[in-house]
Amino acid sequence: FDQRDGVIWYDGKLVPWTDATLHVLSHGLHYASAVFEGERAYGGEIFKSTEHSERLRTSAEILDFEIPYSVAEIDAAKRLVLEKNGQKDAYVRPIAWRGSEMMGVSAQHNKIHLAIATWEWPSYFDPAQRLKGIRLDMAEYRRPDPATIPCKAKAAGLYMICTISKHKAERKGYSDALMLDWRGHVAECTGANVFFIRDGVIHTPTPDCFLDGITRRTVIDLARRRGFEVQERTILPAELEGFNECFITGTAAEVTPVAEIGPYTFQPGNMTKVLMEDYMAEVQPKAKAA
Ligand code: PMP
Repeated sequence: FDQRDGVIWYDGKLVPWTDATLHVLSHGLHYASAVFEGERAYGGEIFKSTEHSERLRTSAEILDFEIPYSVAEIDAAKRLVLEKNGQKDAYVRPIAWRGSEMMGVSAQHNKIHLAIATWEWPSYFDPAQRLKGIRLDMAEYRRPDPATIPCKAKAAGLYMICTISKHKAERKGYSDALMLDWRGHVAECTGANVFFIRDGVIHTPTPDCFLDGITRRTVIDLARRRGFEVQERTILPAELEGFNECFITGTAAEVTPVAEIGPYTFQPGNMTKVLMEDYMAEVQPKAKAA
């Protein structure tokens, strides 16, 4: 992945992809003082760019550092990288981290870096194929108690258990893993939020210890605009058996139906299909969609 054409925005400059390196003694690497975003551009426009830039700055503040660029500067930098890379439909990855001036848990005065990379990562457009649904494993690790970790930051350190869980799932032939939270309630997947449908009502876990995804909130709005009832509530694993449909949401996943979670099966149906289509319409640049 480090050998590609194109440019990366790095601390205010555009550098060739292969030159966007950092020192091995970076604090962000040793102590996970890094926050990032995952965004998608559709037709040349990043969906909810400003919301992502705001979340990036907020994540950094939660980790006790300030990104030395404003939301408007970050938005402009993202547009610039896309333009220089000649991409209209792409994934956008901003990342901010503490640099290498001091090595130790404390790094009060280390430089804060910001880099933005973009690459083509096509979404899975064929709805018929997608409607078959993916298979999820049950993760062993649980989302931690908010009293033990700043769970509202999109911070690198929170992904350690996600990578472990996803690797385990993939080795068993699943696409992803469903994680419970520290209380044993259904929480989310390793990089996406989860929704269930039963008797025409949509149920999704209350995001009190995991990321309240931008896609999640978008899909809840779209569902309510359709007149679908959406309940944000505690969902117990014992309830999985009773749901008819299940899907996950995220910038990368968009709206992806789920066919299986461990022993439970779901039949992606009409409501999931409607929300997949509504989401794909919603992300199109507004001027063109009108
Ligand atoms: N949960 C986790 C752990 C994630 O990594 C993501 C992807 N950023 C999401 C949920 C979904 O968030 P969003 O819809 O903002 O992409």
